[in-house]
Amino acid sequence: MAEDTGPEGPALIIREIEAKSILTASKIYPYVINPYVGCQHACSYCYARYMKKFTGHREPWGSFVDVKVNADALLGKEITRKKKATVWVSGVCDPYQPLEEKYQLTRRCLQILIDNDWPVVVQTRSPLVLRDIDILRGGKSIEVGFSVTTADDDIRKVFEPHAPPIADRVEALGELKRSGIRTYAMIAPILPGAENLMEMLAGKVDYILVDRMNYHYADALYRKLHLEEKLTEGYATWVAQQIAADCKHAGISCTIVF
Ligand code: SF4
Repeated sequence: MAEDTGPEGPALIIREIEAKSILTASKIYPYVINPYVGCQHACSYCYARYMKKFTGHREPWGSFVDVKVNADALLGKEITRKKKATVWVSGVCDPYQPLEEKYQLTRRCLQILIDNDWPVVVQTRSPLVLRDIDILRGGKSIEVGFSVTTADDDIRKVFEPHAPPIADRVEALGELKRSGIRTYAMIAPILPGAENLMEMLAGKVDYILVDRMNYHYADALYRKLHLEEKLTEGYATWVAQQIAADCKHAGISCTIVF
């Protein structure tokens, strides 16, 4: 077990673990791969903190990461036994959180999936995914999506203080698209300022998904900032309609999922 203090984040407890399996059935896509347990981005509203119930972690969300050091070795075996279908990378961690720079587990798993022609949907908040463009470009069915929750980076700093700036995410989407990779933006959860996102995203994504805040972990933060109105269904609906209209104007497919 190692303890590290990142340049931006809280003190981090890192454990290297051997996972028992890696290619897991998912409700969103047929399979999901999570190379890490825990997430350094520590978003205030993150639903994935429910994981702590099952993993026995007592530390605050964002202050621990278990690194599944055998993820790629397991995946190499599991894909020979399972039926080929789309794999989501990842569901309950960011596959490109800062530790991925050192461990390269996401990169090695992608290489295996792409070498074997498995369809992949990558979802992240980090431009570190650009490191793997060389692999991603070799895939037959690859999509890379960024979670982009607001156009206002001051709001991002409050709700997602340890995740990369919005402008960096948008720029990364543009670079991926220019590289010939299909891209999408997941505007979820809708944070204050999300209504202005299409000005930034037009031309950089093939499609958009929009969802409202479905969990309550950040309710106290909204109250503290006197932003309760931005948590209402009325605000979410107005933002979604605004984004849908902007998408129509820009000729981009938009799906509102609430
Ligand atoms: S990047 Fe995703 S998994 Fe990580 S803390 Fe934020 S919402 Fe949770």
